[in-house]
Amino acid sequence: MQAVIIVGGGMVGLSLALMLAKQNIKVKLLEAIRYPDYGAADDIPYHSSFDARNSALSRRSVQIYQELGLWDKLQQYATPIYQVHISEQGSFGKAKLINQHEGVESFGQVIENAWLGRVLLTEVRQTTNIELIDGVQVTSLKQDVEQAYLTVKREEETFELSTALVIAADGRDSFCRQAIGIGVDVHDYDQVAIVTTVQTSKPHQHVGFERFSALGPLALLPLPGEYRRSVVWPVKKGTEQEWLGEHNEQHFLNALQQTYGDRAGKFIKTGQRFCYPLTQVLAHKQVVGRVVLMGNAAHTIHPVAGQGFNLCLRDAHVLIRYLSHQFQQQQDLGDTQVLMAYEKARLNDQQKVIFFCDRVVKGFSNNNPLLKFARNTGLLAFDFIPGVKPLIANFAMGLRA
Ligand SMILES: Cc1cc2nc3c(=O)[nH]c(=O)nc-3n(C[C@H](O)[C@H](O)[C@H](O)COP(=O)(O)OP(=O)(O)OC[C@H]3O[C@@H](n4cnc5c(N)ncnc54)[C@H](O)[C@@H]3O)c2cc1C
Repeated sequence: MQAVIIVGGGMVGLSLALMLAKQNIKVKLLEAIRYPDYGAADDIPYHSSFDARNSALSRRSVQIYQELGLWDKLQQYATPIYQVHISEQGSFGKAKLINQHEGVESFGQVIENAWLGRVLLTEVRQTTNIELIDGVQVTSLKQDVEQAYLTVKREEETFELSTALVIAADGRDSFCRQAIGIGVDVHDYDQVAIVTTVQTSKPHQHVGFERFSALGPLALLPLPGEYRRSVVWPVKKGTEQEWLGEHNEQHFLNALQQTYGDRAGKFIKTGQRFCYPLTQVLAHKQVVGRVVLMGNAAHTIHPVAGQGFNLCLRDAHVLIRYLSHQFQQQQDLGDTQVLMAYEKARLNDQQKVIFFCDRVVKGFSNNNPLLKFARNTGLLAFDFIPGVKPLIANFAMGLRA
């Protein structure tokens, strides 16, 4: 059987390649940007797809990596979240999720993308069923009933490939999506996320904070090292220069202090701040012929609740079930009907997550006093109405698909 072609070797493309290889399906993985060569054990140079960001992996994502036999390698870089505190600056409502109350070991694990990327890439490089071709750009994608055809460019050289199935995991601005004529709905949140690592005087004790402030919803998550925490702070587009750059370090720490009060102790140190534009991009469909969109190419969402990559992993896991069945029956891997059945099977989970994240961003970005009151009572209800917490906890852990 021909190799499946994955376009895009970000965290989704690499994870998918490993899932396919585990089913004995051959893969060619094409990535535009050259991957780093890793040196010493603590060497984690950034790649555009696994950079300064951290990912809060839901329990379901951890299970998926466990099934893949990778969790033992990832765990040493991950920090479990035992509690989640949600609150709004200047308001009375707050909500707390505690692992023992929900009967779970943890709500998920935070991992630095650079480490996740290093583990995934190292594994891919060691897997015989995967041919990794990096530093190449897919510049054309066409298909007929029999095959999909790609033109691939490496510096001055071009070559052609064909396959029964193309998995387009080529990110938010997906070339493949455009090449096969799939349109998108775009919503610009008019925000950028400031991302960094901070050191606080109080140990994190495995508590994750989501605090809605006048400047935007601020997530503070525990990282390896008792006092290290990850910050994701969506701020209004155009104001990012106020927070970036060495000369703004103290200003940034002061803003965190003001937002969090004493909850995390004193904000002592911050690493370099990076910024990411926040746009929701939703593909009108995810399958055309022999091409299926995955990851950010299918749905790019706001990182407010740390759901994007988790959703992508659940998609990937279900797609592999369909493909594995086809493979075992020696049937066409690019069968449109099968790919469309996959798409249909995933819509419900996708729509719920997309709706939830979008509502949280919009619901908490409005200063209308009535809405503020509703938010407060919502957060209180969250603490007092039986059944609400397990529901939300399961959702956050990615267990309610
Ligand atoms: C600030 C921030 C914080 C986040 N935090 C979380 C979190 O805590 N939890 C969570 O679940 N999610 C989180 N997310 C979402 C998560 O980062 C994304 O879901 C994930 O990165 C999507 O990965 P991807 O592989 O689909 O896309 P990308 O990472 O964009 O990868 C696409 C790859 O395709 C390659 N490519 C593009 N075009 C071509 C071409 N023509 N030919 C060959 N290769 C090509 C690119 O070089 C790139 O490597 C966060 C996102 C942001 C912005």
